[in-house]
Amino acid sequence: MDREQFRKAAYAAADRICDYFEKLEKRDVVPNVQPGDIAGLLPQAPPENGEEWSEIAGDFDRVVLPGITHWQHPSFFAYFPANTNYESILADMYAGAVSNPGFNWSCSPTCTELESVVMDWVAKLLGLDSRFHNASGVGAGVLNTTASEGCLVVCIAARERYLRLYPDTRASDFVIIATDQTHSLAAKAAKLLGLSFHAIQTKKENDWSLRGDQLREELEMLKGQGKKPFILIATLGSTSTGAIDNIPEITAVTADYPELFLHVDAAWGGVQLALPECRPESFADAINASAVEGKRGEVHSLIVNLHKSGLVMFDASCLWTGDRSLLTEALDVTPHYLKTEQAEQGQVVDLRNMGLALGRRFRSLKVWFVLRSYGVSGFQKHLTRLNDLTVVLERLVTGEIDGVEKLDVELFTPRRFHLLVLHVRALPSAEVDKLDAAALLAYENALNAAVYKISTGDHSLMITATSVGGQECVRIAVGSSQTEERHLRELVEKLRGMIKRAREETPLP
Ligand SMILES: *Cc1c(COP(=O)(O)O)cnc(C)c1O
Repeated sequence: MDREQFRKAAYAAADRICDYFEKLEKRDVVPNVQPGDIAGLLPQAPPENGEEWSEIAGDFDRVVLPGITHWQHPSFFAYFPANTNYESILADMYAGAVSNPGFNWSCSPTCTELESVVMDWVAKLLGLDSRFHNASGVGAGVLNTTASEGCLVVCIAARERYLRLYPDTRASDFVIIATDQTHSLAAKAAKLLGLSFHAIQTKKENDWSLRGDQLREELEMLKGQGKKPFILIATLGSTSTGAIDNIPEITAVTADYPELFLHVDAAWGGVQLALPECRPESFADAINASAVEGKRGEVHSLIVNLHKSGLVMFDASCLWTGDRSLLTEALDVTPHYLKTEQAEQGQVVDLRNMGLALGRRFRSLKVWFVLRSYGVSGFQKHLTRLNDLTVVLERLVTGEIDGVEKLDVELFTPRRFHLLVLHVRALPSAEVDKLDAAALLAYENALNAAVYKISTGDHSLMITATSVGGQECVRIAVGSSQTEERHLRELVEKLRGMIKRAREETPLP
């Protein structure tokens, strides 16, 4: 393809993308394909001779779209939002033009410096204390692909920190601690590092979040077994229910365990820190506070994914630490060919020394474009809109909106930001009264599983199921920038039908 052909192809691609968004609502959310259908549309080997661009581009409609689950669709209520927008799409196009691996400052000074500055922008947007800012010269903010990658990075940093304090620690004694509501990234990091993992069982009465007294008990128990818990992964907005671990209680405990690294996984919930009214429930003050010896521990690192409801297209996972040397001491490996004068003189930071890979994508460009185009107020408005819509959904479900009958379902946990978790209960009857606790639980789990199963047969929407404390639930994550109240009303009516059918089709034990 030459430059003139590219020019035309790029205009046509923009048209095709606009077409996609224009007609998105008319599509099903979930594609109607079976495993292997899409692979079956593809040749088994690359073509011997190059093909015409028109043919290649046409396959976006013929091959790609038929197998796409439309996360931008207004009736996508599964997992979590993965917002994209035109600013992000354009940024990735420009980043493609200047493609480079950006590992050193000298690889492309803009890549390093823009990332350093926009990470401070995001920190300010979220109200993070200056101890996390790149400008502090001590703290740092960097972009990773995912929260999982960032979590692995901080586990490595935490292990290194522990080894500096206690060099003789045996690998077999190290334990990563988290809770049973922590995202699987914690167990995965343990697996990748060959270390043990301990999940603290959360309780319903705490809304599935970790409390201080429980943490202390578990730390003492592990220490009694000769184990060395070296990192706690706390969560701000758990995957199942949006639970928020009690950071002030946790830091009150970690004051007595200064060897324990505290990481906060705010991959989903962290963007809500952009809304001042959401900061108290997110324990922003405790996240920001520095340690006070003997009185309060501190949050050593925090991860927030902008690529969920933060308007920046996947991937843009923000990692902050209050002490960049925690990362560089664990990850800086500088062979001769990576040495630069600027880094040797301490004028610049080489971002590769704060992450796993050498090469890194130019992600800061899309963050910069989005933040400039939306502004702080636009970013906040986007989140407020999602949260307000979810309040409407909650009121539709609970029958607080005129003309809409209450849905025959309970809220499993209180609404968290733009996540609602529903639970279908057994209807009172003489037969249900006779069930023992285990049989009732099994029956209610079957009811909830049935609602989810029925939902998978309706491709016009997508929701997800989860299980918390042994109880099955149905999760509704509101998050597409295109979702409006009418989509929620439609969802509620569809759920009504699904719940009714689940009750009819699920036999009592
Ligand atoms: C989505 C999510 C993750 C995983 O995010 P990746 O960036 O895909 O690794 C981890 N933790 C929480 C709480 C999440 O919501």
